[in-house]
Amino acid sequence: MLFVDCMFERRALLFDLGDIRALPPRKMMRISHAFITHAHMDHFMGFDWLLRILLGRDKDLHLFGPPGFLAQVEHKLRAYTWNLVHNYASDFTLRVTELDGKGAGRRASFRCQGEFRREGEESVAYPENVLLREPAVQVRCVLLDHGGIPCLAYALQEQAHVNVWKNRLQELGLPLGAWLRDLKQAVLRNEPEQWQMRVAWREGGAQHERLLPLSELKSALHIVRGQKIAYVTDVGWCEDNVARIVELARNADLLYIEAAFMERDAEHGQRKFHLTARQAGEIARAANVGCVMPLHFSPRYTGEDKTLLRAEVAAAFGGKVL
Ligand SMILES: [Zn+2]
Repeated sequence: MLFVDCMFERRALLFDLGDIRALPPRKMMRISHAFITHAHMDHFMGFDWLLRILLGRDKDLHLFGPPGFLAQVEHKLRAYTWNLVHNYASDFTLRVTELDGKGAGRRASFRCQGEFRREGEESVAYPENVLLREPAVQVRCVLLDHGGIPCLAYALQEQAHVNVWKNRLQELGLPLGAWLRDLKQAVLRNEPEQWQMRVAWREGGAQHERLLPLSELKSALHIVRGQKIAYVTDVGWCEDNVARIVELARNADLLYIEAAFMERDAEHGQRKFHLTARQAGEIARAANVGCVMPLHFSPRYTGEDKTLLRAEVAAAFGGKVL
């Protein structure tokens, strides 16, 4: 599971929905989109927990998953009794898309006030498998094979990384606040220098408001190249998978990839349709990524073995392993 917090946007993206009990509710409430690789239990059992936290809130949660995903979400929802929720004042809504991995998908909604029945099903197109196309971030997917079942891998591309110099903000006499999110969006939209922004805030019981041109506000920002992150788990080692992962993860700054088994257990890995640490490292090298975060170690490895798994990834990758 990977939780990506989008600074100044008060929102987060989630990759896979396994055991998320360690995630505090305030963080869960920020999740706007959850991208699921496949519905094996360890990747999807967190759905119930997330639903429980978000129920009763006015919020839309977008879920993406592989072929068959709409029915899987629907069956999870149908397993509960919803005779009271149509009276709720809020209308928590799940917007669920099952992807075919070929640039298209089916989307439907499940609303709290509609007792979570499947509604408004329609076809959607995702040219180049881009699922999220926003000024700040893009998320793309690729369809892989996990022992005869489809499994998705995802890549997130940040447009630019905008940091705020707090001291320069102070020099301008401006406070930290939610308005910085709008400022960041304006920068990412490439608004012209003379573009005006209204900054309003309360201080010492008084209301303040200023209108400032982007050129001036930019002096408080530090803009650097955006990061690319790829998330790959539960895939068999085969030529097709490897080629697709390498294409997806090419030049990523950070690759999250499963390293389920040691190379000495490669045969077992092949039977379970998981990558070995060495295979993960080889993919990372072929994709020319900046660094690797290995994940999803088999529970058969404990203690010292986990260090060995990381070392195996590092040896095959030849670069930095977290
Ligand atoms: Zn799996």
